[in-house]
Amino acid sequence: MRLRIADCGLRIAGLLIAAFLFACADGAGSSKPSVENTPVLKTDAEKEDKTKKTAFDGERAFNHVKAQVEFGPHPAGSPAIEKTREYIVRELKGYGLKTTLDEFAENTPRGKIKFKNVIAELPGESPDVVIIASHYDTKPFKEFTFVGANDGGSSTGALLEIARVMAAESQPGNQDAGRKRKFTYWFVFFDGEEAFCHEWSECLNGNDHTYGSRYMVERLKKEKQLGSVKAMILLDMIGDRDLTVPREGGSSQWLVEAIWGTAGRLGHAKEFPDRPFEVGDDDHMPFLRAGVPAVDVIDFEYGSSPGENDYWHTKEDTLDKISPRSLKIIGDVILLSLPRIETQIR
Ligand SMILES: [Zn+2]
Repeated sequence: MRLRIADCGLRIAGLLIAAFLFACADGAGSSKPSVENTPVLKTDAEKEDKTKKTAFDGERAFNHVKAQVEFGPHPAGSPAIEKTREYIVRELKGYGLKTTLDEFAENTPRGKIKFKNVIAELPGESPDVVIIASHYDTKPFKEFTFVGANDGGSSTGALLEIARVMAAESQPGNQDAGRKRKFTYWFVFFDGEEAFCHEWSECLNGNDHTYGSRYMVERLKKEKQLGSVKAMILLDMIGDRDLTVPREGGSSQWLVEAIWGTAGRLGHAKEFPDRPFEVGDDDHMPFLRAGVPAVDVIDFEYGSSPGENDYWHTKEDTLDKISPRSLKIIGDVILLSLPRIETQIR
């Protein structure tokens, strides 16, 4: 992802602007016809959130992060990303999910590169789709070894575990055996989120990044399928031991409300603070620009002290900075947000 420069230089002004945008975005959200605008009142079911448990296993998610780190640096087009992808596909198929590779080639600052998005489908009662996504490539660096434990690894590990839990819900032996979810879910693992050049804006007229998500949106548009996608939830950099995920101001506010509201009710207001943050750009943006409601769940305070981000895109982004507990919090919050999100899609 890329942070807007305004937020780096003028933190206080940035917060004020973000707060303003935040307020405006609520109004803008009212133009989206597929979403109910009535505020959701607290029901007894919602009050029970705190006692709810999910089958999300933080240790399993952590082991997926460890496996990716052990593949070494895996930028788009590298031999190591093939291994990473094979691992992801093997896991998804093991959960009984129909899994496809969506291949495409793009010109990059390093020549033509073949990319592959991985898409696993969990069919629901409706063919309308909710996407939960992560990127699985790591940023290429020549100067040092970059394994991307948090940036690429953590969200991919958590997404695999979310997919396992959701696939298992309808399996024989489970109390919900044979029961489908209301919507079809796509678990999407994007290739090529990271820029090949150092900065996102440096090469290809500012288009040297988010190759996988931009391709997917264009393909769905061409196939007239984009209208079926009712919501997109992006996870990025969510494994930090010191988990802090502020409300992303550019995201669709009804999705932000659903996720941060659930986090608060689960007792995770500390990890999901009620303050705005603007990510600038990430894999959710191509969806937002195409009119699909989307949210970025991202912890951009990944560093040596609270509020710092000095581990990001450095050799410090290693497994010891990641915790199963943080992955579990993310998994629980996302899984328990889904019923609320589903009720707000018409
Ligand atoms: Zn990155």
